[in-house]
Amino acid sequence: MLNRFLDILFPQQNCCICRKEGRYSTRRPWCEECHKTMFNMRNCMSICDKCGKCLEEGEGLCRDCQTNPPGFDIARAVGPYDEPYRIAIKVLKFMGRRHLSVQMGHLMARAVQAEPRFMPIDLIIPVPVSQANFKQRGFNQTEELARQIAKDLHIKMDAGLLRRVKETPSQRELTKEEREKNLLFAFQVKDNKKIYRKNILLVDDVYTTGSTGRECTRTLLEAGAARVSLITWATGKGF
Ligand SMILES: [Zn+2]
Ligand SMILES: [Zn+2]
Repeated sequence: MLNRFLDILFPQQNCCICRKEGRYSTRRPWCEECHKTMFNMRNCMSICDKCGKCLEEGEGLCRDCQTNPPGFDIARAVGPYDEPYRIAIKVLKFMGRRHLSVQMGHLMARAVQAEPRFMPIDLIIPVPVSQANFKQRGFNQTEELARQIAKDLHIKMDAGLLRRVKETPSQRELTKEEREKNLLFAFQVKDNKKIYRKNILLVDDVYTTGSTGRECTRTLLEAGAARVSLITWATGKGF
């Protein structure tokens, strides 16, 4: 209802990804061609069985998961962190096009439904973004995505349970080891009782080195969660 209202108030005349002209809406924010490209990329992707990263060659587990297995049960993404998936994230995050989270969230929910190993899920928790990012954008993109996934899967979402207690500088320039060190004890569970023995689905926008997902998982398991899995919009390359 609100989405329809927003569509009338702010009509979208360009595909949010390739800018092609047309009539777009919250339910259909990108064009048919971009949709097809995304679909095809998804289908020809060979992925690590555990963390879902795209594998350059072969199958099974990526080197990371073999040498240092993550605490989560399984991680999956809708597609690879390449165009057009990369553009969708940028438009959502840096251009403040919040409505994009609806369609992105739908596709993430479908990716969860397509993988039986995600089940059961008792609770959905978004990965907390840094305070600086939140202030800049006025919304938390992971929370927006998690809200839509929760709606589609009919599972409760709680955005206040996992908090960021340590502000970390931008992770982009850092090596994997530096990121991990940086993130250690960066998160905290607000109310351990609420996650005790729960099967938790974490929601993040991108899986790159996996450091954030790993640290959030460690924090949740240590606080008493039974199992953690992770769904992201896009994922990086593994070896
Ligand atoms: Zn397009
Ligand atoms: Zn892996």
